[in-house]
Amino acid sequence: MPVHPSTDKKGIPHGLWTKCKKCEQIIFNKDLEENLKVCPKCGYYFRLGARERINQLIEDKTFTEHDADMIPGDPLSFPDYAKRSRAYSIKEAVVTGEGKLGGFGVMIAVMDFEFMGGSMGSVVGEKITRACEKAIAKKLPFIIVSSSGGARMQEGIFSLMQMAKTSAALARLADEGLPFISIPTDPTTGGVTASFAMLGDVIVSEPRALIGFAGPRVIEQTIRQQLPEGFQLSEFLVQHGMVDIVVERKEMKNTLIKLLTFFSAA
Ligand SMILES: [Zn+2]
Repeated sequence: MPVHPSTDKKGIPHGLWTKCKKCEQIIFNKDLEENLKVCPKCGYYFRLGARERINQLIEDKTFTEHDADMIPGDPLSFPDYAKRSRAYSIKEAVVTGEGKLGGFGVMIAVMDFEFMGGSMGSVVGEKITRACEKAIAKKLPFIIVSSSGGARMQEGIFSLMQMAKTSAALARLADEGLPFISIPTDPTTGGVTASFAMLGDVIVSEPRALIGFAGPRVIEQTIRQQLPEGFQLSEFLVQHGMVDIVVERKEMKNTLIKLLTFFSAA
């Protein structure tokens, strides 16, 4: 068995094993991948990058990416923004494109929390709007998987405008009678929750995903009350009508196929 030479402080070799953030057990990376990045020992959900999510949902070799090279401007000349936003291995906080899901053609946008906390700046808003417009032109259902800390402060008002822009595009999709399935994942907060993530015809989430506008600490300080157990987690939101379905990651694709079948018949 090949052994990767580099180790971290605790002597765990990189590349072969991952330590679960919840149960702290050591998991063989291959087992973690096969279990769709859910801890096989305690069921903890690791966050997925946009590519990983697309690979889990979209049929092999059917994905065509759109607007892959779009990078953000720096409208406010925000200190270090231009430099910082180019330092990532991915170009922006969303990947958009089209592909097949259970034989259905779909337009899909998947956010990536790794890129500046999945924040929504002008590129995220523009790519999602273009994907929505392509869905209208091609009469395809639209799926957005969100994961975001909210609007990107480095773009100020230009970030906030994306909330209106994406919402308006989704309203046109709805006018055409095309379905929009929103999948807010852990965590989805701020301006993304306050715009497209909550506009789905159906809103599907994963277990114990944090979804909200402001964080629990801010709310507690504002209303001076203790929040109930599990507040803002997906299961709580289903009980209170903000999310329609919570499904395990291994059931996500099947659930989407069922929804797409339902919508195609309607
Ligand atoms: Zn675990």
